Amino acid sequence: MEILLAKTIPDVRQAVQSARRRGQTVGFVPTMGALHEGHASLIRAARRETGFVVVSIFVNPTQFGPNEDFTRYPRPFEQDLALCRAEHVDLVFNPEVDTIYPTGFHTAIDVPSLSENWEGAFRPGHFRGVATVVLKLFNIVAPDFAYFGQKDAQQVRVIQQMVRDLNVPTDVRVCPTVREADGLALSSRNRYLSAEQRHQAVVLFRALEEARALIEYGDRSAVSIQNLLANRIQAGAGVTLDYAAVVDADTLQSQDPLRGMLLLAVAARFGSTRLIDNIEVQIR
Ligand code: AMP
Repeated sequence: MEILLAKTIPDVRQAVQSARRRGQTVGFVPTMGALHEGHASLIRAARRETGFVVVSIFVNPTQFGPNEDFTRYPRPFEQDLALCRAEHVDLVFNPEVDTIYPTGFHTAIDVPSLSENWEGAFRPGHFRGVATVVLKLFNIVAPDFAYFGQKDAQQVRVIQQMVRDLNVPTDVRVCPTVREADGLALSSRNRYLSAEQRHQAVVLFRALEEARALIEYGDRSAVSIQNLLANRIQAGAGVTLDYAAVVDADTLQSQDPLRGMLLLAVAARFGSTRLIDNIEVQIR
């Protein structure tokens, strides 16, 4: 089937309704474009599990801070469309900003406690922007299943909470982080890195794996694991650590001593490029 391209909300609704009339379930992958293998893995999961696969490509202005990279965020639309075609996506929704935020737009979705720390502290308003646009997209597409990457672990928790609290009839699926051969998590922002920064950036994953080994070896001190992460990441010249968090994977709250399912999450800047990564570690 030829891929469908929709720029308006009625076009999306019509295509989705036709799919439903054909008895297909609807899978949805929200993205900001600049698609890579991480996005492709979400699309493949949707393709396996649902009959009609919708991908949105929308660089959402409200989730960027005033000094962030909204205007220079990559927008290689033709390449993105080629990836969607190759992955047998049924419908690409690529709205203009004023389709999503028309004049007079006023409402915001807040998921307070899960949004406060970590990414939320370094990017004020970020999760409000994310939750608001994701709920709008859910209302436009009305998917049975929506696919998100573990790469953005806090985003996943915020969306799961919103879906539960607001009775959104969509099942949120979480897919594992896709990495380069050396462990660097794929990200649309990796293309900003110089060769040297690209080389340095693998420290995020290496530090996380070292921390995992320490926990598996028996260390139960959040402070000692946080210190290990911070020291490893900050060792590189030109690298600035934003945070190294060792928290409960569900509540995202700090705990000491460590127990249960943990999320180890880090964020650092390599020059002006900010990268995040995380792993989960289960204490038995
Ligand atoms: P973005 O385009 O950055 O908004 O990401 C769209 C979706 O792709 C989000 O659910 C991300 O968590 C997911 N994603 C981004 N990078 C990766 C990755 N390396 N592995 C798995 N999922 C990813």
